[in-house]
Amino acid sequence: MAEQRTYEVRTYGCQMNVHDSERLTGLLETAGYTAAPAGAEPADVVVLNTCAVRENADNKLYGNLGHLASVKKKRPGMQIAVGGCLAQKDRATITDKAPWVDVVFGTHNIGSLPVLLERARVAEEAQVEILESLDVFPSTLPTKRESAYAAWVSVSVGCNNTCTFCIVPALRGKEKDRRPGDVLAEVEALVAEGVSEVTLLGQNVNAYGVEFGDRQAFSRLLRACGEVEGLERVRFTSPHPAEFTDDVIEAMAQTPNVMPSLHMPLQSGSDRVLRAMRRSYRQSRYLGIIERVRAAMPDAAITTDIIVGFPGETEEDFQDTLEVVRRARFSSAFTFQYSKRPGTPAAVLEEQVPKAVVQDRYERLVALVDEVAWAENRALEGRVVELMVAEGEGRKDAATRRLTGRARDNRLVHFTPLAVDGTPLEVRPGDVVEVVVSYAAPHHLVADGPVRSVRRTRAGDAWEARTAAPATATPGVSLGLPTIGVPAPLPPLVDGCR
Ligand code: SF4
Repeated sequence: MAEQRTYEVRTYGCQMNVHDSERLTGLLETAGYTAAPAGAEPADVVVLNTCAVRENADNKLYGNLGHLASVKKKRPGMQIAVGGCLAQKDRATITDKAPWVDVVFGTHNIGSLPVLLERARVAEEAQVEILESLDVFPSTLPTKRESAYAAWVSVSVGCNNTCTFCIVPALRGKEKDRRPGDVLAEVEALVAEGVSEVTLLGQNVNAYGVEFGDRQAFSRLLRACGEVEGLERVRFTSPHPAEFTDDVIEAMAQTPNVMPSLHMPLQSGSDRVLRAMRRSYRQSRYLGIIERVRAAMPDAAITTDIIVGFPGETEEDFQDTLEVVRRARFSSAFTFQYSKRPGTPAAVLEEQVPKAVVQDRYERLVALVDEVAWAENRALEGRVVELMVAEGEGRKDAATRRLTGRARDNRLVHFTPLAVDGTPLEVRPGDVVEVVVSYAAPHHLVADGPVRSVRRTRAGDAWEARTAAPATATPGVSLGLPTIGVPAPLPPLVDGCR
């Protein structure tokens, strides 16, 4: 290779973007780039994988690009690429506003990044390539996973819903489902590599199968994951209440390695607001699902997303949301102040709620969510919980020597790795320990007593192996990607950006 070029991928937004960034790093490493050491001089290639959900998403992007302009001035060979939802939305506007950007690629063609970088370098001209629909299913692309033992597995991309506050369908397109055989093959391949926890990923994960006409495809997939030898934990995100059916609840309850944790976006507790959001369920259906989940899995932890201040929301509507929070007993909630998104139906609605009112409701909502979460956590004091020791997240608190783990219900638990006789225990990220909860905080649990049992796992082995020899990209189906310095033949351009 002529020269070893370094890269850095900056990720904004949701899990879908986090997973896409694992592919972007896999693609770049397969093309011969190496990750720029943290804190070293700026990378030769900086990729911004953007999000378009929040109002200030644009400000954040152009702010970053402004900063990168001054860096690039000092490093002429440096390249800047912008991808993700904001790139899909703004397209050539990005190079109009920031002509120092070299590549703009969309959510449907992340596989094109290395080719576009080479083309921009050879042609010395910015390349903007946005597709209207999926090029190849991203899971065929090389991937470099962040975690040694946990992995995202996409089952679908895009969404068929039309929630009036959401820009995703416009940017990620209609729902496209992977064949169950492909999904399972990827899960089995990952487990063979040492992965022991997978999270099934989809914008609307439980609608999986709609494209090939199988309404029970998702529950079948969960049960099939239950048959994969060595797969300890299965999670999934994000389901939609409208499509959440009893066969999924039964599959969760009857498949031992499917974890009792459910993230079920509510958005609002008011039927009037749900109608205006075009969320095709109402308060009673939502609470009915929660009830049936709790009946089938009494220890399940349920989390949610809630928006306050949606246009037209009254104090009475807001009280309905608080009522659902009290009754649903969420273990935590992602709470958002409504943010107008140009291009969404809700952005042009008359009755925008004044900022001060939104702020007040937001504070009252967060206070109630925390109160309920803390009460739910306190109910676990004295309980034995099984943890998978975490990588990176949480704290390795020198003073308390605490480590952190994730319980089966996805709660965060800080524990002290000591045996009954007080001797320190050697536990690795990925290993499984049993501890007794000694204290509950609003957003985590603490287990300060001795560890009851330690199980060294393949996940722990995978972490150890990775720590010994840092990971390289896992090849996907070969796309014939060019390596640096070997200009690729220029495939036909889309969008007429030439
Ligand atoms: S279900 Fe609604 S909020 Fe979720 S991605 Fe689809 S349109 Fe957006």
